[in-house]
Amino acid sequence: MAAISREYVLKALANLRDSEDGRSVVERGMVDHVSVCEGHCAVRLKAPDVAELRDGLRKGTQHVVRALGQELGMEVKAVEVEFIAPEATVDQPADQPMKQAAASPTNRGGTVQPGSPSIPGVRNIIAVGAGKGGVGKSTVALNLAVGLARQGHGVGLLDGDIYGPSVPTLLGLGDMELSLLRDRVQPFFVHGIKTMTIGKMVDPEKPLIWRGPMAHGAFKQITEQTDWGELDFLIIDLPPGTGDVPLTMAQLLSLSGAVIVCTPQRVAQDDAVRAARMFQQLNVNILGVVENMSWFIGDDGKEYDIFGRGGAEQMSQRLGLPFLGAIPLNMQLRANCDNGNPTANFTENPPISKAFDTLVERVQQEVALATQTSGPTLTVN
Ligand code: ADP
Repeated sequence: MAAISREYVLKALANLRDSEDGRSVVERGMVDHVSVCEGHCAVRLKAPDVAELRDGLRKGTQHVVRALGQELGMEVKAVEVEFIAPEATVDQPADQPMKQAAASPTNRGGTVQPGSPSIPGVRNIIAVGAGKGGVGKSTVALNLAVGLARQGHGVGLLDGDIYGPSVPTLLGLGDMELSLLRDRVQPFFVHGIKTMTIGKMVDPEKPLIWRGPMAHGAFKQITEQTDWGELDFLIIDLPPGTGDVPLTMAQLLSLSGAVIVCTPQRVAQDDAVRAARMFQQLNVNILGVVENMSWFIGDDGKEYDIFGRGGAEQMSQRLGLPFLGAIPLNMQLRANCDNGNPTANFTENPPISKAFDTLVERVQQEVALATQTSGPTLTVN
């Protein structure tokens, strides 16, 4: 049985109507956020803090979602409903959806409560995560950042992988030294993006062993003490797996959403599903899934599906998550990463630049969609 998707949850909510004026919660702009993972639905509604009213809305939401699931033969395992105060929302001008995505204190799905501090001047924050290490999470985060910057956006890349920072290598930071201005750490500016990494604050040879509270403190410090200035997008390269850093991030920051990187194999998919569940638990909107190392182009020009091309795409369909594109396994891409030269992926490598350009487009579309979905102007037909 297919699991219900976010689109169908929104359709169900269009059936939840006010008994007096007959308008649905969607028409009344009460839907703040919807996320769905394998039949688990999380809905956040804007409603006054009146127990009776909220209780009715909770029961009504659960009823309409389950009823539509039953009608369409779609699996609904659980429907969680939470509330925020209506005045917490900032109206979003329709012509500026991208800029509004993270500027709104109500956020796009993070656990940050209205009014919590995010990063001043940073409009959209996107986390890039993976269920396991080595699937190309940092590679995707970096090239997403560089690709967005090449389109004229102001972009930052935060190396949130505090256990194994790879940004110094990937961006060729070499001997560059940290600098402070008015007590704030200045980000490095390379390949058109600003970046900060804990790899430049600690001995690169030493293993980084952080216990929970230390990991929390390290991530918080590097995020808040960096002088990011004005950014359209801040991309956060998360550590692999599910752990302290994503939790801290969701508590601390107002996110536009998360991108999950996965290779096609079954074992990688299983880990990616765990990552998706983690984001869902943290109330972080998932922008979609990227399939890395999807296929390999040999010297003979033929394409080889070494790991089973399409596996991650199928997984994203199963979970009802958007698919953001596939990146081939490519020796030049690996060499450019090792040499700290991501710009070459866009200038000297047509199959790779095409793949990353598609990813950049899709991510922007999903961020815009997330903004509309959670904004007060939402309409569902
Ligand atoms: P993660 O962040 O998931 O641990 P990385 O991004 O550090 O993974 O990638 C691991 C290694 O795989 C790096 O050497 C990187 O250059 C290489 N790599 C990642 N994606 C590709 C790809 N599509 N083609 C070739 N090499 C890749």
